[in-house]
Amino acid sequence: MRSFKKEDVVGKTVIETSGAVKGKVRDIVFDLSGGVTFLVQGADGKDSQIPLSNVTGISEHVVVKGETATEQGAPSYGTTCKFCGAAKSAEERWCPSCGRSQT
Ligand SMILES: [Zn+2]
Repeated sequence: MRSFKKEDVVGKTVIETSGAVKGKVRDIVFDLSGGVTFLVQGADGKDSQIPLSNVTGISEHVVVKGETATEQGAPSYGTTCKFCGAAKSAEERWCPSCGRSQT
């Protein structure tokens, strides 16, 4: 398991696997029970919190599970990432593993 420092994450763009841009990581929040949340500033200037469990990959971007995708259940793994080979659904425009653009 890779570990990350705050500097590896803060300031990066947060993108859903569907390709939707959520905003930029502003800070990292944690609680004493071990929960870690990314504080993300959206384009409208409002902060939202994304739990670490929703983060699927960190590279040049922070890639998170799409809110719609999680509600629909498991994605259909039709393709693989052309960079790291991770299984991904054809609809995912960003690799959930390495965070690279698939276009
Ligand atoms: Zn990948």
